[in-house]
Order: sequence, then C-alpha cells, then structure tokens
Amino acid sequence: MKRKLKFKSAFCVILAIVTAMLFCSCNFNFDSLYEGTQSLESKESTLTVHYLDVGQGDSIFIELPTNETMLIDASVNAYGNGIVQYIEEQGYNRIDYLVATHPHADHIGGMRKVIKSLEIGKIYMPKATSNTNTYKKLLTEIKNEGLKINTAKAGETIYEDEDLGIYLLAPNSEKYDDLNNYSAVIRIVYGSRAFLFMGDAEKLSEKEITADIKADVLKLGHHGSSTSTSKEFLERVQPIAAVASCGENNDYGHPHKETVELLEKEGIEFYRTDTMGTIIATSDGNFLNITKDNPSVEKED
Ligand SMILES: [Zn+2]
Repeated sequence: MKRKLKFKSAFCVILAIVTAMLFCSCNFNFDSLYEGTQSLESKESTLTVHYLDVGQGDSIFIELPTNETMLIDASVNAYGNGIVQYIEEQGYNRIDYLVATHPHADHIGGMRKVIKSLEIGKIYMPKATSNTNTYKKLLTEIKNEGLKINTAKAGETIYEDEDLGIYLLAPNSEKYDDLNNYSAVIRIVYGSRAFLFMGDAEKLSEKEITADIKADVLKLGHHGSSTSTSKEFLERVQPIAAVASCGENNDYGHPHKETVELLEKEGIEFYRTDTMGTIIATSDGNFLNITKDNPSVEKED
C-alpha cells in the first residue's frame, strides 16, 4: 500500500514537471511568434505612420492607437491595388478615415480601387472640383458605395480623445487659383508627439494657417517643391524630421534643391521615398522612431 502511494506521488511529481515543461514550451513558442515585431499589446497603444513609396504621388497609411486606420491620399491609378494589398498585409480590411487632400491624379488616382476593395468609414475632401475623368470616376464610386463626403476645411476635428487628436488645419479660404492650395492639411497629436501632413499645400496656404502647427514629423507640402515650405513656416513647425513623397527621377525635379538645403540649414533630418523606399514612423506618444527601406508598394503596368 505504502509503495503504491509512493509510486502515485512520484507519478504526480513527474506529471507536474511534464505539465510545467509543456507550459513553458508553449510560452516560448508564443513569444517567438512575435519575436522582432511588436507584441499585440503594445501595437494597440502605438501610432504607426507609413509614408508609402508610391512613385510620384502621395499615400500615407496610418495605424491609430485606437486600432482604427486612416489613409491620406492614394497616389496614381497604377498604385491603387498595391496600396490595398499593403494595407491588407498589415492586417486591415477597413479604412476608418479616408482623406483625399485635393483632386489631383497623383493623390486620388488609386482611391477608387481603395473604396472598391476596403470597408470605408468617413471620407473627407475639400470643396474643390476638377473636370478630370479620374475625379468624376472617384465621385461615382463614392456614390455607388452609398458613402457621403465630409467637407475638409480648417477648424474641423476628425477625432479627439484625451490622448489622440486628429485636426484639419486647412484649407482656410473658399477660393484659390491653384488647386494645390485647397489641400486638406492634417495634424495628428498623440501624447507629446505631433505629425503634420501638408498634401500639396503651398506657401499661400501655409501663411493662412493660424492654428498650432508644431510637429515632430512634417510631410512636406507638394513633394518637397520650392513652392511650399517657406522658412517662416518651417520655423513655426519646428520638426525633427521631414518626409518628401516623390518618384525616382521625376519630371518636376522634386524635391527641389532649395527645400533640401533649407532643411539641412535648419538641422532637420530628411527622408525621401524615392531613394529610401517606404518610411515608417512609430510613436507611443513619447518615444519616436523612424525607419527607411521598408517594403515598396507594387505598381501595375
Ligand atoms: Zn501632388
């Protein structure tokens, strides 16, 4: 009897050890699954901004700390499906806040495919029209999907809670000669960090902005053209880093020498998608990290 008990307790000890080993190995597997990436827990409180490498155009995909998503512009038509694929690869099938900064083809060309393929929450566009087919087709797609357009203008709030705010700082006027100046300008504030997205807004629009424009990372207006980013504006923004979204050997010479030299003079870190690929900035509201040479977006012929 005693022997049997001893045997039983020995068996229990072995069972406990085996169970513990199994549990440990499970834990190990779980950890290694996320090795080198963020744990799900930290991803929830991180703001991740992808300045996509989409040739001569703009497209910025944003993972908000609320687990929602935002897309500012969708480059030209040839990148539409690639942008959708990139977003899906990040694990999303929905854009909660979609912004078309202004109706130029290098910003809205791929947007029809985005609306067709992904679930869309709210759409923001400035009150600016264009006679191009690209623009007309986009409006038709928005209508077909039963979506409504919210007017993008200075003073509007897209989202706000105690940690995160998404604000529209421009356009400030109702009429402009240049379509670029209708650009929706967006400032995202998360904890002690801020990001500014200029669309193609030029110096005239920069001057009109009276709201707080301080930001750690500035998406340069108009692909780094010298028609945007005045010295006065840059001194108000006080960025640590600036990003130009532009295509390799583009016809416009973007980013312009004047802008690049100004950034250098002001000691601002400069990132550009044409030579550095997709740029990704992440922040937990305090810490800020920027990486280059991330995957490009596929282009169709
Ligand atoms: Zn543009």
